[in-house]
Amino acid sequence: MGSDLKKYNTVIIGGGASGLMCACRLAYNRMTGIAVLERNTKPGKKLLMTGNGRCNVTNDELDISLYNTDDPSVLASVMDKYPVSDTKEFFGQVLGVSLISKGELVYPRTLKGITVLEQMIRYLGSHDVDMITDFHVTKIADGFVINDSIMTDNVVIAGGGASYPKTGSDGSSYKLISSFVSSSDIIPAYPSLVQLNVRETDIRKISGERINSRVTLVIDREEVASETGEMLFTDYGVSGICIMQLSGILNRYRMKGIKTASVVVDMFPDMTPEKLSAEVERRGGKLNGLLLSDIADVVLSRKGDVISNLKSFVLTITGTRDLDSAQVTGGGIKLSSLTEGLMIKSHPGLYVTGEAVNVDGPCGGYNLQWAWSSALSCADDISGRSR
Ligand SMILES: Cc1cc2nc3c(=O)[nH]c(=O)nc-3n(C[C@H](O)[C@H](O)[C@H](O)COP(=O)(O)OP(=O)(O)OC[C@H]3O[C@@H](n4cnc5c(N)ncnc54)[C@H](O)[C@@H]3O)c2cc1C
Repeated sequence: MGSDLKKYNTVIIGGGASGLMCACRLAYNRMTGIAVLERNTKPGKKLLMTGNGRCNVTNDELDISLYNTDDPSVLASVMDKYPVSDTKEFFGQVLGVSLISKGELVYPRTLKGITVLEQMIRYLGSHDVDMITDFHVTKIADGFVINDSIMTDNVVIAGGGASYPKTGSDGSSYKLISSFVSSSDIIPAYPSLVQLNVRETDIRKISGERINSRVTLVIDREEVASETGEMLFTDYGVSGICIMQLSGILNRYRMKGIKTASVVVDMFPDMTPEKLSAEVERRGGKLNGLLLSDIADVVLSRKGDVISNLKSFVLTITGTRDLDSAQVTGGGIKLSSLTEGLMIKSHPGLYVTGEAVNVDGPCGGYNLQWAWSSALSCADDISGRSR
């Protein structure tokens, strides 16, 4: 069998954000014998979905403390060494992707994720990196031998997490990793940045309606976090960026064990109760012109004082949507099991990057930035070890 094996220096499993970036950096470092193995017919399926197709590449005001991980100090080392500014420079100077900022959010100038993907693929094509698609990695044997057909000195598991499995990242990263580490090195995957299910059924009547609000997450009667932004009512509960941001926090509390959770929606965060009360009085107790009439009907049909219901519209959380709907996966291989170069400490030459690692952040470019930074760190580590 041995002589039939195709040989590479580095094989990257997964042609998503982190796998492609890792390959680009290896090529930039003049490494040869690089292959990307992607199970789909084309790479970058999830990348094209990001930011509603616009691809929120990173965040100019990135705050490292907002990431969730088991090892904040390794995370800080990686992010300090490969910060937003360096990533933007690599995109601009090396990959030729022109970026623009909208507030703190950074996008390709074209506002299309396809520009990011095309430029990466072009770069790989012009640097002799093999892009092997329709290749589903199911086995990494010691050595490293992949699917009994490829032999390589280094392996990068960049197969993503387990959210939006239809994009190809269906949790197979964890299966591949688990043959090399013990189960205590992997935190089981859970949905992070996900919609919330709620008990109250009255909001089904306003499914599809959006409202600008301040939403506070209350756990065991304590306010633990608030977000302001557009919230969407749905058949099952609530969605929108502000809800997604709170869901990650909720999930982490749930893992520790909680009794009750709710979101309290302030539909008029810009008005004091007194000012709102005067406005409602001016309208003869009606909410016309203040709220969409179907939302107003739901608020007015609730028991209790109208102003309290407008300022503190309570929705009892019964759970979150599952991984199929989550934008990001929490959990994965513990960062504490990896070096700063993202190599599994106990297995020289075996690396894990991107969402497969136990690092997840809020909306706003944080998760792609982790994919880029972890990939850059990994590629430089491989390059350094190979010289
Ligand atoms: C709808 C949506 C919108 C998002 N928007 C943003 C945003 O605007 N900004 C942001 O920062 N983040 C966003 N994210 C999160 C971001 O997309 C991910 O965190 C990021 O793509 C993770 O990169 P990755 O390379 O680790 O994994 P992925 O991008 O998931 O790539 C993994 C790749 O590996 C392949 N693969 C998996 N297993 C195997 C295997 N066994 N063999 C071969 N190939 C395999 C998959 O097919 C896939 O192509 C969004 C996510 C979703 C779902």
